[in-house]
Amino acid sequence: MLQQTTVAAVGPFYERFLNRFPDSKSLAEADEADVLAQWAGLGYYARARNLHKAAKAIQNEHSGTFPRELDAILSLPGVGRYTAGAVSSIAFSTRAPIVDANVARVLSRVLLVGGDLKTSKNQATLWEAATQIVLVESVEPREVNPAMMELGALICTPKSPRCPLCPVADECEARKQGRQNELPFIPPKKAPTPMFDVCALALDKMGRVLLRKRPDHADIWWQGMWELPRTTRSENESSQEALIRLGQELGCQFAPQTRATTVKHGVTRYTIELECWRVEASHVTENESLKWVDAEEADGLAMPSIMSRLFERFVPNSASSEQLSLL
Ligand code: SF4
Repeated sequence: MLQQTTVAAVGPFYERFLNRFPDSKSLAEADEADVLAQWAGLGYYARARNLHKAAKAIQNEHSGTFPRELDAILSLPGVGRYTAGAVSSIAFSTRAPIVDANVARVLSRVLLVGGDLKTSKNQATLWEAATQIVLVESVEPREVNPAMMELGALICTPKSPRCPLCPVADECEARKQGRQNELPFIPPKKAPTPMFDVCALALDKMGRVLLRKRPDHADIWWQGMWELPRTTRSENESSQEALIRLGQELGCQFAPQTRATTVKHGVTRYTIELECWRVEASHVTENESLKWVDAEEADGLAMPSIMSRLFERFVPNSASSEQLSLL
């Protein structure tokens, strides 16, 4: 949950999730849609899916008890080397290393590791160094791993590291050579790729809105979540043309009317300009992934936060719906 955000922001989500799923059994037995709905607003939905799968694996393969062995932890869905090392060292004091961004920065400076830290050669160097540290007999893994992370977060900061306060200053090669501000090398970021999407705001006579469930393909964002039907405009395609095509793809007809709003948001390496159009939808045949939904029913559906915001803004009786006549 803490991916790219703060403890303060995550707190309410964490409590809500733990209230609904207090243990791995309740999580394992839940529907995926319910898990995603409880996760809604946090982003990175693959994590929620993996957490759900991991809970099932704990129930089915480990008799409901979280495994202690590093290999068994590593085999849980969604658990990589860092998570496995953090859990097993902090919870069970296993001599397992961890390398996160903070630890990588500290080690790159102490050991003078140049170049992009993400290369496999540099990653191998960093993991090997972190392994050697936790293998020292007098070292307590559940103390040294968090200590290295804290050192990176508080002292060996990305800019202007506080070397005079640093407990490993005497061992630090970067400091000895006065190169602490040069390391680690940060490769220039690639500019985000722009995308232009449109979505259909279709209301029926009862004020219900048409929602579409996103497919479950592994290569798309927000798998299995609900949204206003949405598509990416292809080159030379107008917004209206894209909406008409989208209607055909969904087996119905869309007649675009007016543009309700345009919002911008980012997903992975894309910046997306999303036009939301009011459309008249006809010949709609509801099915498992296309249905008319009122505000109450929408409450229980997992939606990407950008869609929740549009829904709340434009659908009658939602928390903050606007008068449609004002659009
Ligand atoms: S001496 Fe400075 S650069 Fe080296 S690890 Fe400590 S804070 Fe980082």
